[in-house]
Amino acid sequence: MTSAQERKIRQTGCDVRFDNLTRQLYATDASIYQIEPIGVAFPKDAQQASAVIRAAADSGVSVTPRGAGTSLVGNAIGEGLIVEFSRYNRQITDLDLEKRSVRVGAGVVLDQLNDFLKPHGFCFGPDVATSSRATLGGMIANNSSGARCPVYGTTADHVLSLQTVMADGRIETIGPMHESLAAERAGIENLIRARSAEMVERWPPGLIKRWPGYGIERFLRAPNDLTNIFAGSEGTLAAIFSAELKISPLPSKKGLGLIFFSSVDEAMQATVELLDLKPAAIEHIDRPLLDQTKGQLHFQAARDLLELDTQPCESILIVEFYDDVAERLSILQSRKVGLRTKILTEPAQMNLVWSVRKSGLSLLTGCIGPGKPVAFIEDAAVRPAQLPEYVRGLRSIMKPLGLEASYYGHAASGLLHVRPVLDLHSATDLRKFRQVADQTSALVRQFKGSLSAEHGVGIARTEYMRDQLGDELLGVMREIKRMFDPKNIFNPGKIFKVGSALRADRTPQSGVPSRIDNHLRENFTRPLELPFEPVLAFAFKDRSFSGNLEQCNGCGGCLKQTGVMCPTFMATHEEVMSTRGRANIIRAALELRVNGNDPLKSAELDAALSNCLSCKGCTPECPSNVNLALLKADMLYARWRRDGLPIRERIFSNVDLLGKIGCAIAPLANRILNYRPIRLAMEKTIGLSARRSLPHYTSKRFDKWFLRHCRASVSVPKAFGIHRMEPSGGERHGRAAHQGERAGASESNALQKRGPIILWDDTFVRYHEPHIGIAAVKVLEALGFEVSLANNRRCCGRPAFSQGNLDAAAKLGKHNVGLLSSLLDCSSPILFLEPSCWSMFVEDYRELKIENAEKVSARCFLFEKFVDDLLTSAPQMLRFRDLTVLSRQVSAERGKQEDRRVNVAIHPHCHAKSILDPAFMKRLVERLPGHHATLLDTACCGMAGAFGALAEKYDLSVQVAQDLIDKLENQGRETELIASGTSCRHQISDLTNIRPKHMAELLAEALP
Ligand SMILES: Cc1cc2nc3c(=O)[nH]c(=O)nc-3n(C[C@H](O)[C@H](O)[C@H](O)COP(=O)(O)OP(=O)(O)OC[C@H]3O[C@@H](n4cnc5c(N)ncnc54)[C@H](O)[C@@H]3O)c2cc1C
Ligand code: SF4
Ligand code: SF4
Repeated sequence: MTSAQERKIRQTGCDVRFDNLTRQLYATDASIYQIEPIGVAFPKDAQQASAVIRAAADSGVSVTPRGAGTSLVGNAIGEGLIVEFSRYNRQITDLDLEKRSVRVGAGVVLDQLNDFLKPHGFCFGPDVATSSRATLGGMIANNSSGARCPVYGTTADHVLSLQTVMADGRIETIGPMHESLAAERAGIENLIRARSAEMVERWPPGLIKRWPGYGIERFLRAPNDLTNIFAGSEGTLAAIFSAELKISPLPSKKGLGLIFFSSVDEAMQATVELLDLKPAAIEHIDRPLLDQTKGQLHFQAARDLLELDTQPCESILIVEFYDDVAERLSILQSRKVGLRTKILTEPAQMNLVWSVRKSGLSLLTGCIGPGKPVAFIEDAAVRPAQLPEYVRGLRSIMKPLGLEASYYGHAASGLLHVRPVLDLHSATDLRKFRQVADQTSALVRQFKGSLSAEHGVGIARTEYMRDQLGDELLGVMREIKRMFDPKNIFNPGKIFKVGSALRADRTPQSGVPSRIDNHLRENFTRPLELPFEPVLAFAFKDRSFSGNLEQCNGCGGCLKQTGVMCPTFMATHEEVMSTRGRANIIRAALELRVNGNDPLKSAELDAALSNCLSCKGCTPECPSNVNLALLKADMLYARWRRDGLPIRERIFSNVDLLGKIGCAIAPLANRILNYRPIRLAMEKTIGLSARRSLPHYTSKRFDKWFLRHCRASVSVPKAFGIHRMEPSGGERHGRAAHQGERAGASESNALQKRGPIILWDDTFVRYHEPHIGIAAVKVLEALGFEVSLANNRRCCGRPAFSQGNLDAAAKLGKHNVGLLSSLLDCSSPILFLEPSCWSMFVEDYRELKIENAEKVSARCFLFEKFVDDLLTSAPQMLRFRDLTVLSRQVSAERGKQEDRRVNVAIHPHCHAKSILDPAFMKRLVERLPGHHATLLDTACCGMAGAFGALAEKYDLSVQVAQDLIDKLENQGRETELIASGTSCRHQISDLTNIRPKHMAELLAEALP
């Protein structure tokens, strides 16, 4: 684009970005397509949106409105200016419960709206599976709908009015109560009425979702309401700035009937037979999808609930009822359909099942290997009664081509998300891609169904519009487009094959994206070539760097505002701070689409990687298991190999050595760390923020304390490499007896020897927080273990790994694994107090391909998980003191009846959360008499090792922590806080007055 055009757009005052980083970030959505825009605008109000759209139009630049970019068929990408509505326009106003309406900005996310409406007993009906990030603007423009279409219809059914920005920048409010655009309204009515016979012929009734293109059949039913034309127009007619929406009362009750089948055909037939029960939804999931949940932490509870491992099946129907649930569920059960049925009415259990269904698309695309289930015929729909025959038709297309596909989705609406598995890197499969598309278009025509009933026309279906609509109806739509957007400014090339906006240099655009196999993502047409040899194994999944990188399909799951993935996006709402953004930029770098054409070093890559906290949140939460922490480590390592390891990364890799030195001169070292001029100098030289406190060194090292504590120990030959001691149960028993508590049960256990156990004295416990190690030793001894430390252990390598210093991490790992597997006693459990050290042993040593890592990892446990498991199998093993006795006594003396319980909030470490379900932490705390625990729904604390200590990252680190801090502030003043990660405790201590404890401390305090 010319500088004059850029200036004109900038002059609007809108936040606009033309830099390469932004252009690459917005070159894709959740589809297989890629088009680089000239820039992206983020308007804050309707006036800015108007100004920027007018400026673009005047400059001959096309405009593609965009929400979260979760469109599956290329709807949300374009070569002109992307106008992004999701960043700023998130206001919800004018809730009117009587009128049952609410006003939303186009960028309001569906979950956000429903969270707002829930306390009032209402919801927004249409329920897209991408509810955690899909915007209302995008939903209206795609006329989206979800599983409950039988009760709620599609989004267009819930639009009362729209505030739109037209192609010339005019702001118009449209809807049945508004007079605007009257001439166009009348013109469209005339056009459509003249073609009504053709509509009846092409679109017989019975279809539950939408037809492709503009909603002319809806408009004919309500010709005073232009919102019916704009809803579903995919950003090709105008931009939506805000909308007045209808809201629906929440159902009084919900219930699920799950029916398990031995074949998809049986399930399809059963769907037709169940419709008379008037379900809110009938959703179908089949084995290929269910198989993708195998071995995934996030879906294990759902697998257990569905008993998939013990009673396998080929397909499941999820039949949901609203309101009068019990009666219909019992009818369903009495019909004895399928292999077995299961009835669920508990919300938590129902949510588990929905979580599998909602993740369906991403779960499927997460399969290993270059072949992926591709979205291009995935939202074709027929009438539900036609489903069995339609599925047979699809199979007859797939079979001769040797293609596998999953058939899951909205059975009650006659819509199955069928995605043939294709390797789009291969010319053969590209041909099959087209063959399937052509034949499915013909099949859908045969059934008089809808080729695109949910996701829009986008790029993938534009070339089939003529077949689907015929010349007459397509002509009507073309005329509508001409009325509102005569210069073809809005989202050109979508829905219509020809005609386009001018290019930035005022020449007509040539490559109008109207064919299914145009504009494919570059990695399909030109396979990724890595300029380095990856060293990590990607052992959890894919076994390949490129394979894992290509797992990112753009679904946008990482743009959500809850859970663990992705903390930096949650804090900033910046695309580059999301896992998707990072994966897209790594791909851009490798495809040399970054400035300087260096695949390993560019400002774009730095922006993406340097802000990744390596929190591991994405691996379990991304349904395709993109592992950004590994991708980042391998990329950084390749760069350091080529360019040398910078001094700062070298220093940060050696915190263990620094600990050793620091402790030797602890008083001096600590004074230095507190001395401001030195801190300022450190900020200048190595970039350590002077605003950040640094952990103090102890003069009483934990390992030294342990040696002293072992005075009664049985000496162990040095060659075994461990310090060992016997439990000091006698003293404890005496104390407990003195307390007069716990007759019987604990006696038998406290003294029982449970054999040796190794406690990993990590860098932080050893050099900074020995009290945590001491507490852990006390707890383990109380449980009857002979505690040992691994003598001669080295740092686990986590700090080096985070810096991409993989040589050092591997060296440390080899030493530690070698040490632990060469001990005479090489079967004892090894317990970890610091989750990020534990994750090194159980995950990253394997990633570093360290010999015997797997064997050792089987012995590695997180301290609190180990203790909880033990107490689960034998609860009497240890009875904790009731710390509330004293306060109850005091209350009683004062004549008050107070039940003083101890409230404990738990902030689980993100590495622990990425590997384990943290529910055990709450269970463990509640083993302490009088304790009530709350598991905080928090992501990474933002400290992330050295990250939060860096001057240039300090502000982001604090921003990321804000959610945690807010949640802590909502806890009562006397609430205790448990945070087992050293970084988390550091961050919390720095930003609040709270002194968090490690779980070991809490348990030790309650020892008898
Ligand atoms: C895993 C997965 C599951 C999905 N499940 C469903 C589902 O259950 N049901 C369903 O219907 N869809 C589904 N989709 C598709 C998609 O999520 C929905 O269409 C969603 O509503 C799009 O919202 P968005 O904010 O991401 O819009 P975007 O993708 O950003 O944009 C969608 C379209 O709307 C236009 N647009 C966006 N904002 C505006 C605006 N303010 N003004 C004018 N035009 C605008 C864009 O130009 C584009 O054409 C799914 C997608 C994925 C990846
Ligand atoms: S990282 Fe995962 S969740 Fe995020 S867009 Fe990519 S595939 Fe989806
Ligand atoms: S590791 Fe954490 S910060 Fe990095 S992309 Fe994944 S979720 Fe985001």
